Amino acid sequence: MNVPFLDLKTPHQHLEEELVAVFRDCLKNASFIGGKYVTAFEEEFAKLCEAKCCIGVNSGTDALRFALMAAGVGPGDEVITVPNTFIATTEAISQTGASIAFVDIDERTYNLDPNKLEVYLKKRLSGSTSAPQNGVTGSRPRAVIPVHLYGQPADMDPILEIANRYGLIVIEDSCQAHGAQYLSKKENRWKKTGSMGLAAAFSFYPGKNLGACGEGGAVTTSDELIANRIRMIRDHGQAKKYYHDLEGYNGRLDAVQAGLLSVKLKSLPEGNEKRRKNAALYSKLISLLPAPCSVIPSFVPEWARPVYHLYIARVPKREDLQKFLQDKGIGTGLHYPVPLHLQKAYAGNGYKEGDFPITEKVSKEILSLPMFPELTVEQIEHVVKEIKNFYSNQP
Ligand SMILES: *Cc1c(COP(=O)(O)O)cnc(C)c1O
Repeated sequence: MNVPFLDLKTPHQHLEEELVAVFRDCLKNASFIGGKYVTAFEEEFAKLCEAKCCIGVNSGTDALRFALMAAGVGPGDEVITVPNTFIATTEAISQTGASIAFVDIDERTYNLDPNKLEVYLKKRLSGSTSAPQNGVTGSRPRAVIPVHLYGQPADMDPILEIANRYGLIVIEDSCQAHGAQYLSKKENRWKKTGSMGLAAAFSFYPGKNLGACGEGGAVTTSDELIANRIRMIRDHGQAKKYYHDLEGYNGRLDAVQAGLLSVKLKSLPEGNEKRRKNAALYSKLISLLPAPCSVIPSFVPEWARPVYHLYIARVPKREDLQKFLQDKGIGTGLHYPVPLHLQKAYAGNGYKEGDFPITEKVSKEILSLPMFPELTVEQIEHVVKEIKNFYSNQP
């Protein structure tokens, strides 16, 4: 039995007619940029995220960058995030002219550890920090980007509280968390990712839980001023054609993608529910594995309703296991094999091995198992059975 890591073909099959109809309509009216499909999708997606506004943009990376810029982040500012994320998070920071600072993750959720954020800020503002680049650039902490990695919400109550106390802007990187929920103890209710920070960034890269048939992204926010600024930034700094109040970017979501996204958005809640079911089965089967399998399943805190963009297991002898599974026709992934602070791109930032021990440890042990809504019970059982086979044959 083959189990692919991801299946992007099946979900489009039963939608084909509807998707093609959108494209036909755009062709017929030659409406490719802006227009009804974009505004309709923006309204629908804002509603799903429980945010007042949604601004469609070209990618998740643009969404992050535009959100930071609209919040006034730029040269002289420092933006804090985790080293356990996709590089787009930090690319967006650098591209505003701000500098990057890292804070380590929680070992169970793999997301920003609020305690470490607090410790970092205390040290940072007393002038003693182990992060080398901050002393060099002389920048000041201005914003924090919690990443809801793997579709698992970051622990937002304490993050928002700390950010508030230190005067930091919070921009959520929700690029892997369309529709995830966080139980706010403070407000005693479930909140959607994308509704908690000043603004949030989403990606519609095809492999994401909500994927376009090409590139796409969006910012959600309930701040009208920020929303209006992003509408300008994505469109060359113009509110009226050829009257430029500022320099912006060509960063719009195009009409075809917006229309296709509206069609696909309808199956997002069901897809997320199926992912949760799949994840629950993985976790159950993995926790039943006998010794010597010491595989750690995904952890779900009681305050999280994740959407499992990825299902992460922590495994011993990872490289060997991955190869074993591959030989059995089971696809897996590594998210991410090299922590950002150890990437060549950031060699000049002065970080070294040992700076973020949890991220470094986790990065050597995590394995992303096949995860998509259409995954069957038999496939999941098969994956876990082969994991068991691997460890039973180990010396
Ligand atoms: C996908 C992703 C992005 C970037 O989104 P693009 O649409 O590919 O630009 C940013 N952050 C995270 C965590 C992502 O997974």
